[in-house]
Amino acid sequence: MDIKEILNNSIRTIPDFPKKGIMFKDITTLLNDKDAFKSLIDFLKERYQDKNIDFIAGIESRGFIFGSALAYTLNVGFVPIRKKGKLPYTTIAEKYALEYGFDEVEIHIDAFRDIKNPKVLLIDDLIATGGTAKAAETLIKKAGAEVVESCFIIELQDLEGAKKLESPVFSILKD
Ligand code: AMP
Repeated sequence: MDIKEILNNSIRTIPDFPKKGIMFKDITTLLNDKDAFKSLIDFLKERYQDKNIDFIAGIESRGFIFGSALAYTLNVGFVPIRKKGKLPYTTIAEKYALEYGFDEVEIHIDAFRDIKNPKVLLIDDLIATGGTAKAAETLIKKAGAEVVESCFIIELQDLEGAKKLESPVFSILKD
């Protein structure tokens, strides 16, 4: 089986969660399938191992799971991008628009310390409108690093979120 088939077989879609009209992509059924989870991380390792990445930045909270597994296997550092108010040290914050209102994400100001011109891979489970990833990309740049690629397990193509990003976008499944 190729990676797309493995992911299609292990990620389930829950209609009307968390509200009516949303087709929620549930990746917990991928995570609890040890072979599928391993296949995904091995696939991403293959793609990124020769790209000179210094850090992986993962978006709260599902980006933490894939991002830290990949960071471990690539032997690079992991940087969390969190919802406002969760990071304890000095932060840089970025607001982004939601359907109704705003949300805000943060990064530690010294997240990429000790490395000159750090190269970062941004990762999350899914890109929808791209608002979250765009804010994350901005934060990484403000913290002094370069986003070499933004990686998603699933891209909801109709919402055209990838167009919002400046970095190249790599998504395994396009839905
Ligand atoms: P957006 O900012 O619109 O690109 O939304 C991306 C964030 O919302 C990601 O962190 C996703 O985990 C989550 N998300 C948005 N839509 C879905 C969906 N249909 N299924 C699962 N997660 C979603």
